[in-house]
Amino acid sequence: MTLSPDWLAQGYPHIWAPYAQMKTAVPPLPVVRSAGSRLELADGRSLIDGVAAWWTACHGYNHPHIAQAVSRQLETMPHIMFGGLAHEPALTLARRLCERLGPGLDRVFYTESGSVAVEVAMKMAVQYWINRGERGRSRMLAFKGGYHGDTFGTMAVCDPDDGMHTVFRGLLTEHDIVDLPCDDVSFAALETYLAQHHAHLAAILVEPLIQGAGGMLIHDADTLRRLRLLADRHGLLLIFDEIFTGFGRTGTMFAFEQAGIRPDIITLSKALTGGTLPLAATVASHKVFDAFWSDDPSQALMHGPTFMGNALACAAANASLDLFDSEPRLEQVATIAAAMRVGLEPCRGLDWVRDVRVLGAIGVVELDRIVDRDGLRRRLVDAGVWVRPFGNVVYLTPAFTIDADDLTFLMRTVCTVLSAQRP
Ligand SMILES: *Cc1c(COP(=O)(O)O)cnc(C)c1O
Repeated sequence: MTLSPDWLAQGYPHIWAPYAQMKTAVPPLPVVRSAGSRLELADGRSLIDGVAAWWTACHGYNHPHIAQAVSRQLETMPHIMFGGLAHEPALTLARRLCERLGPGLDRVFYTESGSVAVEVAMKMAVQYWINRGERGRSRMLAFKGGYHGDTFGTMAVCDPDDGMHTVFRGLLTEHDIVDLPCDDVSFAALETYLAQHHAHLAAILVEPLIQGAGGMLIHDADTLRRLRLLADRHGLLLIFDEIFTGFGRTGTMFAFEQAGIRPDIITLSKALTGGTLPLAATVASHKVFDAFWSDDPSQALMHGPTFMGNALACAAANASLDLFDSEPRLEQVATIAAAMRVGLEPCRGLDWVRDVRVLGAIGVVELDRIVDRDGLRRRLVDAGVWVRPFGNVVYLTPAFTIDADDLTFLMRTVCTVLSAQRP
């Protein structure tokens, strides 16, 4: 196959692509421009984007308000170290995030990726107990179907069987990975489990309302309320990984709002900068922070990524929050949810479709299996949409600003392509 343009042909032999068997992987599509919900390819084709850059570009691509904020920041101060120095974008962002999160979540620790934000959350939870003098509480209770990142620490809390990291099994820290309870029987079983095992657990870690990269599996708000109760009853911290769900994706600014409860620690990343620059945050409650507040230097949180609190990224995140204030993002999410409930419904009748489900601006068509994922991806691209099925799911997570015609086209294309042949 001859690749074009030249930069792809000459550069691709030096690229190691994500989640790809390079020998058989289909080469990536060359993109030369992004705008709104469109990706323009080097050959002039335009694709309607159903993924929003791995769920990050909630305002669509190239929003001028974010672009201006970043370019202004670039001229004054792109980056300074965060150790011993402070700058306005990072501190203003911390204050604004805490205002948005509401009382109880009030200390922000910045990192540059979601995985590292989860690492920091786990580190906080483990050291919380060490600092309080309770030894042996080092394990997380996490759930099958979960995904929390690709680093060694976070691989260990992903689904151990169906996740992407089974090859590393045996090398990972052991945690307690159990079924996510969904009814009285399974909650009773978890209660029994915790009664026996809580003494070696530091925290419960869960993606609230939807487990994303582990399969787009939805659970209800009551599950979260009951997990909060269990955590309180057994003295565990509760960590919500809102890296996917944060910033409107499920219909509220944060998924936990739908349950009317709060976690002790929350992780944020993906849509934090509106899909423009890498940034993540781990936000802790007073209770957690207070366990580190001490005259003893060994009780400090020893972490500090080089690019922590990057000023460009913080400027982008502040501009993204402006847009949540000034534009009707949550209404747009509600409109998308309503449209997807109707627009994806035709898929339900297909023999190979197991389920169709919608949560906020997330539409999921679950198949019994996808045999030829590359073929399916190619047919979607040929039909004019960028949709990237994984596992046995085809999902849509468009920008909240996608226009109604583009959304209709996306959904219709998914249904048409899925119905044409068993993928
Ligand atoms: C994407 C994701 C992560 C990992 O974030 P990276 O920035 O890819 O490291 C962690 N948790 C959840 C819920 C995610 O969706």
